[in-house]
Amino acid sequence: MSYKIAVLKGDGIGPEVTDQALKVLLSAASKYGILFDFTEGLIGGIAYEKTLNPLPQETIDLCKKSDAVLLGAVGGPKWDKLPNEKRPEMGLLNIRKALGLYANIRPAVLIPALKKECPLKDEIVNNGINITVVRELTGGIYFSEKGKRQGEFGIEAYDTDKYNETEIRRIAKVAFKLASKKNKKLVSIDKANVLESSKLWRSVVEEVGKSFCDVNLSHMYVDNAAMQLVKNPSQFDVILTDNMFGDILSDEAAQITGSIGILPSASLGDGTLGLYEPIHGSAPDIAGKNVANPIASILSAAMMVRISLGLDDIAKSIENAVNISLEQGYRTQDLDKESYISCSKMGDIISQNVV
Ligand code: NAD
Repeated sequence: MSYKIAVLKGDGIGPEVTDQALKVLLSAASKYGILFDFTEGLIGGIAYEKTLNPLPQETIDLCKKSDAVLLGAVGGPKWDKLPNEKRPEMGLLNIRKALGLYANIRPAVLIPALKKECPLKDEIVNNGINITVVRELTGGIYFSEKGKRQGEFGIEAYDTDKYNETEIRRIAKVAFKLASKKNKKLVSIDKANVLESSKLWRSVVEEVGKSFCDVNLSHMYVDNAAMQLVKNPSQFDVILTDNMFGDILSDEAAQITGSIGILPSASLGDGTLGLYEPIHGSAPDIAGKNVANPIASILSAAMMVRISLGLDDIAKSIENAVNISLEQGYRTQDLDKESYISCSKMGDIISQNVV
């Protein structure tokens, strides 16, 4: 069997960590007798440098012809002053939109070998952390009307937060289905005490919930959710939330599991094509130093083979290889400032542990 994978390494640490994921995939492919056909495409700042466009049409075409997309990260201070539509981050927002990927799945799991790295007290995490954050990805404040205008007190800037019931219904279904397969607890997070868009969100989620009687649905305001994540993270199973709240809460969920460098994500739509990427950014402060943690990228590759390619055995074997390497005591700099190995060495070790 051969699978076509579009590889968009992007900027900063994107290429370094993606290279390790490719190494691990090749190791798995040789052991399981399958082939990965990797084709690279441009996205982000590097795409702007080469084509003056953070998302060239060729990249969209490449992704559409592929079975799955593996992405590194985009962005960096070099491009911060560009007009919005040229910025690397637009490449990311637009590829999700172009591929119809509206559901971002971000698992935040406390790996037992990393319990010491968790910043929360032992008694808070004794029951473990295993949260799946389902974030709406193509609507809300990041995509609604925004602008600048002359106001009574000088220039004013505005962003609007808009959701329609179709957008809410489809993401709610994704979250209910996941919760139904997990521990059947879904917390929908909003700010319905203040925002109209959240009031609609809550009522549509309630309506969808009527078709998933096996799932226990509750609602929580986002400010309380931010607090509960550090106070009692074990209470969460699946979290459903909008684009901006999900952006913020999933980074918080990442940090309580040890490091932003270990958490993967999947962006999905209605078909099997998905885009898989670490939740972290391009980390310009450590880019090019071979010290980044490649585990988020490697676990994104595991999600990719499981969800888009249906190769559950290979996904498990990659996840096991990550766990074994951490149990063997290997750490990158973000996890242990005193005694650490490089990004590429971590990739080598995890590749060797794939069986
Ligand atoms: P960031 O995630 O890049 O970095 C935050 C901190 O975490 C930094 O100290 C960084 O060194 C550290 N970090 C991140 N990934 C790491 C890894 N794998 N190993 C070890 N340490 C790691 O977020 P930021 O600093 O807010 O943003 C930097 C750039 O990335 C910006 O241009 C931003 O727009 C972009 N960004 C891109 C994405 C994406 O491509 N999906 C997501 C977030 C931010």
